[in-house]
Amino acid sequence: MATNETPNGITPPLWLLAEITYQCPLHCPYCSNPVNMEETHNELSTEHWERVLKQARDMGAVQLGFSGGEPLLRPDLEHLVSYARELGFYTNLITSGIGMTEKRIARLKEAGLDHIQLSFQAANAEVNDLIGNKRHSFEQKLKIAKLVKQYAYPMVLNFCITAQNIHEIEEVMALSEQLNADFVELATVQYYGWAYENREHLLPTSAQLQDAEAKVNRYRAHQAGEGPTFIFVTPDYYETRPKACMNGWGTTFLTITPDGSALPCHSAKILPLTFPNIKNRSLQDIWYNDFSFNHFRGDSWMPLPCKTCDEKEKDFGGCRCQAYLLTGDMYKTDPVCSKSPDHHVMKSITDKAGDKPTKALQYRKVERAIPVKLIPDTTKA
Ligand code: SF4
Ligand code: SF4
Repeated sequence: MATNETPNGITPPLWLLAEITYQCPLHCPYCSNPVNMEETHNELSTEHWERVLKQARDMGAVQLGFSGGEPLLRPDLEHLVSYARELGFYTNLITSGIGMTEKRIARLKEAGLDHIQLSFQAANAEVNDLIGNKRHSFEQKLKIAKLVKQYAYPMVLNFCITAQNIHEIEEVMALSEQLNADFVELATVQYYGWAYENREHLLPTSAQLQDAEAKVNRYRAHQAGEGPTFIFVTPDYYETRPKACMNGWGTTFLTITPDGSALPCHSAKILPLTFPNIKNRSLQDIWYNDFSFNHFRGDSWMPLPCKTCDEKEKDFGGCRCQAYLLTGDMYKTDPVCSKSPDHHVMKSITDKAGDKPTKALQYRKVERAIPVKLIPDTTKA
């Protein structure tokens, strides 16, 4: 089938998120990777990834994010970037920076990498290294931030904001300015994966959020159009309408996990659905025909009040994973919505923010991966 054909009115995926490994040197307690990491034992080979990239591009995908875990841990990253660029993808590396060196960034530049998004855990070494549970990671991130500029990439930073660092948001903005960042996402954590497990520790109070937002607005007012653009993302737990999750299930985004599972969003594996694997099906067949991808397309699955709601084209009933995590039923209206009969769940959670947690903080664990067949990196000096 030719590119851009849309069987049954289904639009092709535009964004491909390639989670090339769940391995990561950091252990962030808010990591969105699955709590159950068994997939790390069965990573896709280089040839598998080439096939995925080719098929996604043939279907019309244009944006590609290399993510993880820490994608720098795959020695074939440069090869995959170069392959993706030849196919015509715009390529983005989403990284903690741990494992990056000047040699490596030079090779990635040569391979045609378009964009790097560097994450920080906080604005100082003590809190940064404590949250990531790795010593000297802050120092390393500062070095990488300089290399990102030196190699003429736009400087795009991501700070995960939690109850542990929200009081330091002004320091975060000052550091971003010092590093000459162009765009900075101040992203309060969304509660999936490890973040869901650790929510009692991570969820800021409403007062903390309001204070942080006021600080961001004051900072912006003093910038006089100069310095980084700050984007402040509040957790939807405090909202009255859900996010338009993935721009609608199976409309735009496609995620491939390290073991080859194809998902409409990166956390969908928690749902009681069976998801297909690219090892034994083509992406085209999966996207257009698989039961799981078709399951929440359109509005025929919707319960009341979504089914008759005049906002259903805006938010598609919210996030299926959130509905499942918070109500035990993936078909329910996202409880973030004030029209949901389950909205009281949100209040009972947010009312407890700031209370003493009932269980210990869990750092993200990771098991060792079984080596996979990788194409050796021939660009190495
Ligand atoms: S959130 Fe932290 S632990 Fe998870 S992949 Fe990113 S850097 Fe690694
Ligand atoms: S009822 Fe459903 S469709 Fe309407 S605003 Fe709430 S989540 Fe969105």
